[in-house]
Amino acid sequence: MSRLDVFINRMVSQRACLNFAAEQTKEMTGPVFELGLGNGRTFDHMREIMSEREIFVFERQVESNPASRPTEDMTMLGDVRDTLPEALARFGATATVIHADLGGHNLEKNDQFARLVSPLIEPLLCVGGLMVSSDQMYFDNLSNVPLPEGAVPGRCFIYRRD
Ligand code: SAM
Repeated sequence: MSRLDVFINRMVSQRACLNFAAEQTKEMTGPVFELGLGNGRTFDHMREIMSEREIFVFERQVESNPASRPTEDMTMLGDVRDTLPEALARFGATATVIHADLGGHNLEKNDQFARLVSPLIEPLLCVGGLMVSSDQMYFDNLSNVPLPEGAVPGRCFIYRRD
């Protein structure tokens, strides 16, 4: 599979999973967390499909397309290893959707980082909330959710707090 195929599969999977998560949690009012702003494409999509919810962005260095930039008060600036514990103190277990796309090209490094941040992400999700990730995560008390139509297995993962 070419890198173009892998990239396309990641993009269509992110869109399918985010649309699914927004739909499944549409009656919920708690905040939404975007972990890893990057270019801002997924953030832009999230604010389109969850326009009525507050979306906080976690990013160590904001370098997105200017059209897809959160306001300062909605930005948790810094390393997620620091800002996720801060978010827990501030918000508790209230996040309705958490989307994580923190990885780069090194799959082994991505997996190590996913293991490290999983316990920092898990306590933030409210009951019924969904966590969408481009990497497999390592949660103790969240269950795996079957992928929606259009998502490519292995390219994204969905977890729920029951
Ligand atoms: N989903 C984004 C989009 O649609 O444009 C792309 C996200 S990009 C693949 C990953 C982002 O995560 C980068 O902007 C990087 O700076 C951020 N990131 C990676 N590790 C981080 C960390 N430890 N703390 C905060 N941000 C981090």
